[in-house]
Amino acid sequence: MKDQIRIRGLRIYAGHGVYEEEKRLGQAFYVDAVLECGLRAAGERDELDLSVDYGAVCRKIEEVMTGKRFSLIEAAAEQTAKEILLSFPLVERVELTLHKPQAPIPMAFEDVAVRIRRGWHTAYVALGSNLGDRQAYLRSGIDGVKAHPLCRVEETAPVYVTAPYGGVKQEDFLNTVMKVKTLLEPEQLLDVLQELERKAGRERKIHWGPRTLDLDVLFFDGQILETPRLTVPHPDLENRDFVLKPLCDIAPGLVHPVNGKTAYRMLKELEEKTGLSVKTM
Ligand code: ATP
Ligand code: CA
Ligand code: CA
Repeated sequence: MKDQIRIRGLRIYAGHGVYEEEKRLGQAFYVDAVLECGLRAAGERDELDLSVDYGAVCRKIEEVMTGKRFSLIEAAAEQTAKEILLSFPLVERVELTLHKPQAPIPMAFEDVAVRIRRGWHTAYVALGSNLGDRQAYLRSGIDGVKAHPLCRVEETAPVYVTAPYGGVKQEDFLNTVMKVKTLLEPEQLLDVLQELERKAGRERKIHWGPRTLDLDVLFFDGQILETPRLTVPHPDLENRDFVLKPLCDIAPGLVHPVNGKTAYRMLKELEEKTGLSVKTM
């Protein structure tokens, strides 16, 4: 289990509710928050900077809860969880319970509450370019994800020069992989990536043909997804040294949730099979 900081029964007077009167008059809400974050360093060194300042978290909860009047406590909780995750980088997940004991229910009751759990996801994204200023296109992919308010690029691998894949005659590729922390869901991340491809002037003419920028989701946490738009883990990654090589530079121990192999093992098996190995720039 992860270390936790727990806040219970934080009282906040605010105007959330479907009824106009609730928004106007306000009522008392109570917030419980469980913050998941590593506390060992703070514990061993006895330094606040290494932990999460729970006083500051309480002020942030109050700021969000009083900054806007929501109709639903679901919405107030969603917004509060998001702001905590964005403002306190050490917090990996948060469980928020938002109580509304004076909710307009015409019966005797003790409490009504919503509880949500939200957290940072970890995705690995492959980048490729073989048209125009290839370096600049890769950079635009990395910078574009960095610029998104709900994404953080934690690591990028070295760039590799690789021969084109799939039999279409074309220029060599530049390939790399980045590790992304995100509050987006998988398809929302794909939307962001496809918009960046579009901005880079990507045209889909020939399958596996030349492209300014290609951004593929390799992994999304340990999730296995098969939707019309998204297959995760990326179905062909085991056969691609230009994906596995940079992936191994930043996450050799990452385990493929379907075949159970680490990135390192997949690369070694592919190299043994093909006798290939790719060059770094
Ligand atoms: P490949 O996916 O074999 O590397 P490609 O990258 O050239 O081929 P694209 O033309 O870029 O293929 O994408 C085709 C479609 O693949 C996209 O519209 C997207 O919806 C879908 N897709 C499915 N799974 C993924 C994934 N994991 N990452 C990115 N796109 C995906
Ligand atoms: Ca691709
Ligand atoms: Ca693609």
